[in-house]
Amino acid sequence: MKVTEHIKKAKGETLFTFEIIPPVKGKNIKELYDNIDPLMEFKPPFIDVTTSREEYIYIDRDGLLDKKLTRMRPGTLGICASIKHKYDVDTVPHVLCGGFTKEETEYLLVDCHYLGINNVMALRGDAMKEEKYFEPTKGGHKYASDLVGQIRNLNQGNYLHEVIETDNCPDFCVGVAGYPEKHMEAPSIKSDLKRLKHKVDLGANYVVTQMFFDNNKFFEFVDEARKMGIDVPIIPGIKPIAVKRHLQLLPQVFRVDIPQDLVDAVEACKNNKEVRQVGVEWCIQQSKELKEAGVPVLHYYSMGKSDNIKAIAQEVF
Ligand code: FAD
Repeated sequence: MKVTEHIKKAKGETLFTFEIIPPVKGKNIKELYDNIDPLMEFKPPFIDVTTSREEYIYIDRDGLLDKKLTRMRPGTLGICASIKHKYDVDTVPHVLCGGFTKEETEYLLVDCHYLGINNVMALRGDAMKEEKYFEPTKGGHKYASDLVGQIRNLNQGNYLHEVIETDNCPDFCVGVAGYPEKHMEAPSIKSDLKRLKHKVDLGANYVVTQMFFDNNKFFEFVDEARKMGIDVPIIPGIKPIAVKRHLQLLPQVFRVDIPQDLVDAVEACKNNKEVRQVGVEWCIQQSKELKEAGVPVLHYYSMGKSDNIKAIAQEVF
């Protein structure tokens, strides 16, 4: 079922969902299942599986460094298929512009269609570690909006190089990213919202936001988006702080602000066990307020760990 159909079916009830990251290459998938199992009692209608970009690694060959391009966490589609089969739940693979040619994306979408996966999250991806700015892959897309366009075309039977008359067109429901505190490269929140509107105009069916720690930022973002005519569901993405280092890491990587009260509470913690508890409590308050405000779904960035998300879900759902 499509994400938008799950939302309609819930008739105003807030749904619980979460996002997982594929394991590092070579690791057993069992650890992932061990972290999904405890969350299934909250009946997520769908689970997102992220895609990681390729990166350069350097292999020491007798003193000479050999530069190789590799993907450290492959397996997004396989994990989606496996979770769908194991838990009978819909899965949403994240599809990236970065690292993929348009043809590779087409083949990936064809695989999704064969597997009965009809939701995808269309994302640009970040710059590679060595790059300051995102460089489109040769033969790939520059912006997520271009990827949304490709998916919309495919939904109409328009493959990249041929129009195929078929009674078996895919019918993907497409999610895209939104940024309550604006995307790091956008000159202003307004211009970022215009880009978001463009993605929706091209066929995106719902938006999932970047994490935020101050609900007012989300509420203002939704107000502005609605004023601009963005009328699809907007799903808040939230994450509990789990370690002290997050105070520096999250603003640096995701360009999000952390409210002073939360910073003070985390800094006062004696160890990361206490930090985890502070993060859980903050996230419970955030979740309750968002639920009260009638958000369609609460989407948790689990980073593959379930204990804190379970503690939150127990209080909220
Ligand atoms: P876009 O929508 O293309 O926007 C990127 C920037 O370009 C923005 O600043 C936008 O304002 C600007 N822009 C857009 N169109 C134009 C235009 N036509 N002209 C000029 N400027 C333009 N990353 C991963 O690698 N893997 C994942 O699985 C993943 N999952 C994510 C899930 C969610 C919910 C979110 C919020 C982010 C996720 N990301 C993931 C991170 C994402 O890839 C990065 O934030 C990336 O930098 C931007 O992606 P986007 O899809 O928002 O890009």
